[in-house]
Amino acid sequence: MERTTFRPVRESYLPYGRQWIDEEDIEAVVEALKGDFLTTGPYVSRFERAIADYVGAKYAVAFSNGTAALHGACFAAGIGEGDEVITTPMTFAASANCVLYRGGVPVFADIDEKTYNIDPQSVEEKITERTKAIIPVDFAGQPADLDPILEIAEKHRLVVIEDAAHALGAVYKGRKVGSISDMTMFSFHPVKLITTGEGGIIVTNNEEYYERLLQFRTHGITRDRSRMAEDHGPWYYEMQFLGYNYRLTDIQAALGLSQLKKIEKFLELRRRYAAMYNDAFKGMDELILPHQPEWAESGWHLYVIRLRPEKLAASRREIFEALQRQNIGVNVHYIPVHYQPYYRKLGYDKGICPKAERVYEEILTLPLFPAMSEQDVRDVIEAVKRTVGQYRK
Ligand SMILES: *Cc1c(COP(=O)(O)O)cnc(C)c1O
Repeated sequence: MERTTFRPVRESYLPYGRQWIDEEDIEAVVEALKGDFLTTGPYVSRFERAIADYVGAKYAVAFSNGTAALHGACFAAGIGEGDEVITTPMTFAASANCVLYRGGVPVFADIDEKTYNIDPQSVEEKITERTKAIIPVDFAGQPADLDPILEIAEKHRLVVIEDAAHALGAVYKGRKVGSISDMTMFSFHPVKLITTGEGGIIVTNNEEYYERLLQFRTHGITRDRSRMAEDHGPWYYEMQFLGYNYRLTDIQAALGLSQLKKIEKFLELRRRYAAMYNDAFKGMDELILPHQPEWAESGWHLYVIRLRPEKLAASRREIFEALQRQNIGVNVHYIPVHYQPYYRKLGYDKGICPKAERVYEEILTLPLFPAMSEQDVRDVIEAVKRTVGQYRK
């Protein structure tokens, strides 16, 4: 097929995601810079309280990033050498890497072909005597089907650590994500729902997990005299296990607090733009649009379309490149984690999750973020219609 050169629909490149930072955010950070702590101080505590309250959890522990937070959650859950943890391959590597950090073994369950979320039935099939936890991921902001997952977990005494990096503000059957699983992680990377530059958090209702997370975040050190083996005096503290320096700074937490004030506006804009895409593409049978179960309210972190190769005379790669040439920053979420060379070396083979692998071949992520304009959305729509129209069979 001849290579079509499209005139870009726009002059400037539109990324798939980008932060929203306004004057209020900048002032909040400046205020924190004048404070006493800079590192973990009163802003971090306030940010933790605010996130916990927003999602309806008792406790929250902020971390330097979402990956560190997942590492902490695996520690708190007691994941150790040889323990198996079931997760999805349709995610960023961090959802599985956190298990490797603990010497555990990530086990990949396949996905549901409609939602691209982990399939509870596949989870059940992967359970062995060594299984200790499940890490469902709320793909693109859409909550995983948590009820059957929690049921399986209860039956087999497993901990559920929800990777909700995409899903701050999302709702599952009337309950906010963060109030449901044993522990839930949110990420504050710039493309996520709100940002602190780098940052992450674990929310939980379990006091024991909470204590362990706090201590893990700061070298395994405690200053709680009631829990120490010895007491040499007021200077004394104890390092009781090998933790890390995974602290968030007050500067970042101040930004997070200011961002959290805007979460409803952010979600509203994401929803509105997703609805514009749904509306514009609904008649195109070359595309499969994001499926929304009636029980879920997505955080719309990503807008992922699936191409139907039998209806198109071009590959996903050609369509991807054609859209990029038009300055539309499409992306692919995700390359299945077990495809990564590091995982291949560990012995994971292609073919272990056929549905995720097939979906991977056909998906494209369109730009979606609150700081884009309606005109940006219309540019994406025009480019997609043009490109698909060009390659329509
Ligand atoms: C972003 C992301 C993470 C990791 O978060 P960081 O804050 O970047 O470390 C983990 N899981 C998923 C699904 C993510 O998208």
